[in-house]
Amino acid sequence: MQITRPRGTNDFLPEITAKWQEVEALLRCLCREYGYGEIRTPLFEDTELFSRGVGETTDIVQKEMYTFADHGGRSMTLRPENTASACRAYIENKLYGGVQPVKLYYLGPMFRYEKPQAGRFRQFHQFGLELFGSAAPAADAEVISFAWDLYHRLHIKGLQLKINSVGCPACRPAYKTALQDYFRPYLGELCATCRDRFERNPLRIFDCKSEICRRIGAEAPLLLDSLCPECGEHFTAVQELLTTAAIPFELNPRLVRGLDYYTKTAFEIEVAGIGAQSALCGGGRYDGLIEEIGGTPTPAVGFALGMERIFAALAAQNDDIETTGCLDVYIISGMDKRLKQAAFALACRLRGSGISVEMELGDKSFKAQMKAADRLQAAWTVIFGANEFAAGQAAVRNMASGEQIELPIEDIRGYLMQH
Ligand code: AMP
Repeated sequence: MQITRPRGTNDFLPEITAKWQEVEALLRCLCREYGYGEIRTPLFEDTELFSRGVGETTDIVQKEMYTFADHGGRSMTLRPENTASACRAYIENKLYGGVQPVKLYYLGPMFRYEKPQAGRFRQFHQFGLELFGSAAPAADAEVISFAWDLYHRLHIKGLQLKINSVGCPACRPAYKTALQDYFRPYLGELCATCRDRFERNPLRIFDCKSEICRRIGAEAPLLLDSLCPECGEHFTAVQELLTTAAIPFELNPRLVRGLDYYTKTAFEIEVAGIGAQSALCGGGRYDGLIEEIGGTPTPAVGFALGMERIFAALAAQNDDIETTGCLDVYIISGMDKRLKQAAFALACRLRGSGISVEMELGDKSFKAQMKAADRLQAAWTVIFGANEFAAGQAAVRNMASGEQIELPIEDIRGYLMQH
């Protein structure tokens, strides 16, 4: 039986990875501009890191993790996201001891056992920023502006930035009680998941996709109306910074992150017209997370974006990533062993000078090699024929203009470097 890739995963072939590399290069360039350094953490971690760092009550931890026992009987989990790992690394590597804030980025595969559908995969790729050690509103604004900047540079249209404040341990408990008081009379009408959320974290009822829960939630009191003074000032300052930077945003008072360690700013960028999975990225402040996984209280803010969603958005807008990097030279040679050896030696020399080179590795005919050069869209061909070779020369042809000259073999590298 044919073995196929697991459901919800993708094979990215060179034509696609070339586009990914362009986006990755842009991301790394932005990180340099904004001063973020890359962190690479393990693809699997102790399961407890995620049950604490993502949250016992989240869908991710309750039903989406790839968890297994290793040969030593330890429970391990393929990372469903990278923030918990980045926090662990911040603590474990004592990054809190150096200059603050610490600004990190990551890029790589994440794993969630979700129902695969357009834009939703079991292995997908996230890029994200984590900014540790600053409680300033400017840190929130910086992270948001990074995301906004990126999508603009990718020419994605119809972006909608939605922001909210989810308060802090000072203002949330009273709000939580008010929310429970509001939802209590409707308990019988809420879906089973929301009845469970009612006790554990009623804010997450706003996240429910069910029509009836949404309708009931539409009239619920909003945390934005009862933020404590500190959270209120922080949120105002973030909005002022976004306005100063000409980044348009909408308030969405029902944008939530249900867990206690999320604080203050929450944001999401969506794009219209890419189907149900319209969220390009999401993030916010999580001043309680580092403490939750065993560190000392440290303010932190960050965001994560889905790489696949970038390409889905571009495709929906009939746009695509331009890739450069076509082939510089195709070397064509006759069958004679000495010709082939000379062609091989030239290929090595040219590659050593940064020129990309392809050649026929086997014994295909001259004509077949010509065809291959055309198919690969080589900018130049170098042709080793018996007569020219006898005179120490080879022909160099510019494929666009069709012009061809004969050059001493040792001069070819210099000629190509100049042109
Ligand atoms: P989250 O970590 O759930 O806040 O997700 C952050 C971003 O990652 C989302 O806005 C999506 O762009 C992307 N994302 C999350 N889950 C998936 C998935 N299963 N497949 C593809 N992209 C995803």
